Formats: sequence, structure tokens, C-alpha cells
Amino acid sequence: EGGVPLLEEGKLKVCTHLSYQPFQFERDGDVVGFDVDLVDLVAEELGVEQEIVNTPFETITTGAAFNTGECDLAAAGMTITPEREEVIEFSEGYFDANQAVLSKADSGISDEAGLAGKSIAAQTGTTGLQYAEENLGDAEVITYEDLPLSLQALQNGEVEAVINDNGVLYDFAKENTDYAVGFDIQTGEQYGIAAKKGNTALIVKVDEVIGAAREDGTYDGIYEEWFGT
Ligand code: GLN
Repeated sequence: EGGVPLLEEGKLKVCTHLSYQPFQFERDGDVVGFDVDLVDLVAEELGVEQEIVNTPFETITTGAAFNTGECDLAAAGMTITPEREEVIEFSEGYFDANQAVLSKADSGISDEAGLAGKSIAAQTGTTGLQYAEENLGDAEVITYEDLPLSLQALQNGEVEAVINDNGVLYDFAKENTDYAVGFDIQTGEQYGIAAKKGNTALIVKVDEVIGAAREDGTYDGIYEEWFGT
């Protein structure tokens, strides 16, 4: 069917890096989120169950998680970049993203110049860290393994700001009104779902399913569920 090789154990093993709310995070013992709902459509089409595998982000971006057979796909709010495209197979873009900078609502940090002499948390292996290293030389960039640790560092006063993707930081600010996104950085990123380099059959299937979901309104329904006000 469609040239997709049979999946081991009738499961679609999907690597991600928890937590990245609202794309993938734990709620009442389940992993839920925008990416989870989207990949559920793919699993449904293939007649298998999605099984989520939590793994360090860099095992996904380097392709290691596919090469060891740990996962068939990865969905991790992951930006398509030329470097990553060399080692993993990406779907078409399924979500637009930019970078953003979050701080205390009364911090007055509203542009890059405002970060001079300040400490800022960035997440290991991400496009946000790369941006900070290349462009925020006047700030002290401190890396954290995941998004929750970055946000915790801000809440503890270990850092004065956090750089990460706009979707996750606006989501945090919505629930934590002492914090606000001071500014966005238009990096023009697109998220892609990934597979092992060369597994184009599975990626074609992903593109077909997401394409159909965009056309029949399913995509908009999922978007509304996780990003609607
Ligand atoms: N979109 C960013 C990247 O790909 C962050 C992804 C993440 O932390 N899950 O680097």
C-alpha cells in the first residue's frame, strides 16, 4: 500500500523531545499536542498506533534516532534546515515559526539592544541557540537541555530572558501572565516531520495526509484546538 514498508509491530514509533508545549507535552499521563494530533492522522491512515518515544533533541536532528531503528518518524516542533536535510528526510513544512524572546512582563526588554549585558537561556541543539550565538553577542547565552528547564531558569531568576520558538513562548505567556514576549525575531522557519534519510515512501505518505488535512479542514480544527484563544 503506497510503497510504505511494513512497520514493525504494527506501530508508528515517533520520536520527540519532551516537553515542547503545545506541540508535545504530558497531560494527565498522556502525551498530547499539535504535533501529536497531526501524526495521529498519519498513523490512522497507515492503520497503526502512534507510539511516542522521548529522546534528546540532537538524536533526532543528527539522524541517530532513525539509524538505530528507535523511531520511524520524528515530530518535535523541528525546523527544516539545510544542515539537517543532509542527514534526515523532511516532510513539507507543516507550521510557520519565528524566534521570540520572553522575559518578566515588566523587564522592559523589547529589542535585541535591550539584551546587552543580560543573560538569556537557549535550548541545546536548536535554531534559537544558533540565532543567539550568531546574533546576541552582547548577551550571556546559557544553554539548557529542554524548554521547561529554560523557563524554570527564568522563573528562578537564573537568567533574565529566554529565546525559543514563538509558538511555545506565547503559549507559556498565556498561562503565566507575569511573563511576556518582548519581541519576535523574523527567522521565517518551517517545521517538518522527519524520517530516516532515504525513507521517502513514508514522507510521501506524511505529505499526502497533511495535504488532505489542510484541504478538508482537519488541520484548521487541530490548529484551533491548540492555538485558538
Ligand atoms: N524549532 C526549533 C529547532 O528545530 C526548536 C525545536 C524544539 O526545541 N523542539 O531547533
